[in-house]
Amino acid sequence: MASEIKITFLGTSASIPSSKRNHTGILITYKSENILVDCGEGIQRQFRRARLNPGNLSKILITHWHGDHVFGLPGLFQTLALNEYNKNMQIFGPGNTKYFMKNFIHTFIPVFKFEADVKELNKKGIFFENDDFYLESFEVKHGGFPTNAYNFVLKDRRRIDKKKLKKFGLPEGKHLADLRKGKNIIYEGKKYLAKDLTYVEKGKKISIVLDTVYFEKLKDFVKGADLFICESSFGDDLKDMAKEHGHLTSGQAGMIAKKAKAKKLILTHISQRYEPKLKELEGYAKKYFKEVSVAKDLDKIVIK
Ligand SMILES: [Zn+2]
Ligand SMILES: [Zn+2]
Repeated sequence: MASEIKITFLGTSASIPSSKRNHTGILITYKSENILVDCGEGIQRQFRRARLNPGNLSKILITHWHGDHVFGLPGLFQTLALNEYNKNMQIFGPGNTKYFMKNFIHTFIPVFKFEADVKELNKKGIFFENDDFYLESFEVKHGGFPTNAYNFVLKDRRRIDKKKLKKFGLPEGKHLADLRKGKNIIYEGKKYLAKDLTYVEKGKKISIVLDTVYFEKLKDFVKGADLFICESSFGDDLKDMAKEHGHLTSGQAGMIAKKAKAKKLILTHISQRYEPKLKELEGYAKKYFKEVSVAKDLDKIVIK
């Protein structure tokens, strides 16, 4: 069975939270990995409401150090320290991340010991990789404030076709290891070809683009995404204001999704201005791209 990727929207508000929407936080769960993209104020309680345990976190990716994306960090660190968190927490963020992390820890948590491995990502590219997936960052344009977008990419995997094993009369076991690598094997003097017994399961790509203005290269980073999560602080009715504040409109999010040939677009970072007219906000994106919806807090998406 294919492994699932789960996405949980812990917070979906723009810069000011509302009674319906918490500050930003997106959790990606795959096998034992729990990767939190941004940690807005109140994220700890959102974990509780979603019946998830922040103690399972393995990585935090910070898009940028504006308050609505990071004010949840000190509280989260304090709780993790109190609960004797003992995993190796890795924190990734843009070029000013070490400075802000040091000051955050210093200001808020002098008593509790919490250590994390902090890495600054200064250029586009892969910054974490294992056998299953890789993580990729890309610098976006948010009013000159260092800001990253992120991709989670599950790699293509070669799988053994069990029906064909049976057909060829080949038992399961360690002798099949090379087949998984795409190599032919010899078993009990007989040769078996990888191409006859295996198939390639296509990987998955999840792109997360939060605060940024529109620019052409965004589509390249998002290219072919199975799920594209994108900020849309404004609708196309306030296009100039969006640009002035360093943000995207929902129409621009739709345009990126279309150009990138994404499969699905979810709009987040929603301003309370649009709460009474979410259909309108969605509609601007729909002009360009049909498969679109607006995220709600605690929404869960499973990518198989
Ligand atoms: Zn923001
Ligand atoms: Zn921002």
